[in-house]
Amino acid sequence: MTQTRTRLERGRSALGPALELVHTGRAPTRAVLTAELGVTRATAGAVAAELEALGLIQVDSRPLGAAGAQGRPSHRLSIAPRGPVALAAQVHADGFRAALVGLGGRIVATAPGCMTVPADPAQVIDAVVEAGARLLRESGRRCVGAGLAVPSAVAEPEGTALNPLHIAWPAGAPVRELFTESLAAAGVHGPSGEPLTGLVGNDVNLAALAEHRHGAGRGAQHLLCVATGHRGVGGALVLDGRLHTGSAGLAMEVGHLTVNPEGPPCHCGSRGCLDIETDPLAFLLAAGRDPGPEGSLLQQARDLLREEYGEPSVRAAADLLIDRLGLGLAGLVNILNPDRIILGGLHRELLEADPERLRAVVAERSLWGRSGGVPVLPCTLDHNSLVGAAELAWQAVLDDPLQALAAG
Ligand SMILES: [Zn+2]
Repeated sequence: MTQTRTRLERGRSALGPALELVHTGRAPTRAVLTAELGVTRATAGAVAAELEALGLIQVDSRPLGAAGAQGRPSHRLSIAPRGPVALAAQVHADGFRAALVGLGGRIVATAPGCMTVPADPAQVIDAVVEAGARLLRESGRRCVGAGLAVPSAVAEPEGTALNPLHIAWPAGAPVRELFTESLAAAGVHGPSGEPLTGLVGNDVNLAALAEHRHGAGRGAQHLLCVATGHRGVGGALVLDGRLHTGSAGLAMEVGHLTVNPEGPPCHCGSRGCLDIETDPLAFLLAAGRDPGPEGSLLQQARDLLREEYGEPSVRAAADLLIDRLGLGLAGLVNILNPDRIILGGLHRELLEADPERLRAVVAERSLWGRSGGVPVLPCTLDHNSLVGAAELAWQAVLDDPLQALAAG
């Protein structure tokens, strides 16, 4: 009896780590799972079976060895194709996007919405939650939770958007409370029918978390992410797999590093910040283009860079932004000593336009970058802030799958 209970308890405590290994693509087979968990084959088999019974993963019933492969063939593990999903939502300067995201960071369905973001945050949060609720109804899948990405630092523990500078929201808007109310009003509930508490994070923090688990940041120990949104610039640091958020959720406000002391005034009160010197609007203006009414600023900047890079004015604008971005990154390298830098939004495209120029600025202008030892890479996930918002919602399941899913 005691022995049985011990084995079950050991198996239960391995459920979360096992799910995380499958979720992040690090356990494609039961043999790898066994090795990664450091348990017996019997325990790993029981753990995989339990995760399958919870509807989270699929265990291939007929193990197949690769042709000519050595050793015993192993059962393949994959994400259950009709498993539960997280409702992910993002509000940005040009509207919103809702999505359903399964394990493995897979976007199952998505619905964009374009609007002038109203000064009342409840209106846009209601709209994005309604879009997400519609996707859920259409999918018929269970919902494990809901996460929201916002273009603002989010103060903890209050869950308020402290500096939504590029949308017209009042500083300190109670976004978590509003999100939770919207979810209840739209009839979105948890896997056992319980009310959900909405989870909220800064969009670049969430992008970094998603890239660390599923994209360009995998395996990095000290991952620095810098990205433009539709407006402005944000940064994030993932330390040993966890977001570094500071004492009150407000760390890594890299957008307000000065990279041009003679630059124009910034909405933060300083001048020439990374935020206004290297964002999509800055690129359009540096290239002598007026932002048009069609499409978001981010899309217009991307299109210009991709389609007219051969134009001297566009090339010069790209060089200018790369140099200023490199200056900002060099300062961050000295302070944070990351083992990898990933760039998102327009910064990803600037890196891809001229990787040598950006890497050279980082190397020349930083103590620790001089050796060239800090890889600077583009983000690889589509909609990484949304995937990261879903990660917030998946965390309870990853921590304790039985508790999260079998409570009802
Ligand atoms: Zn500023």
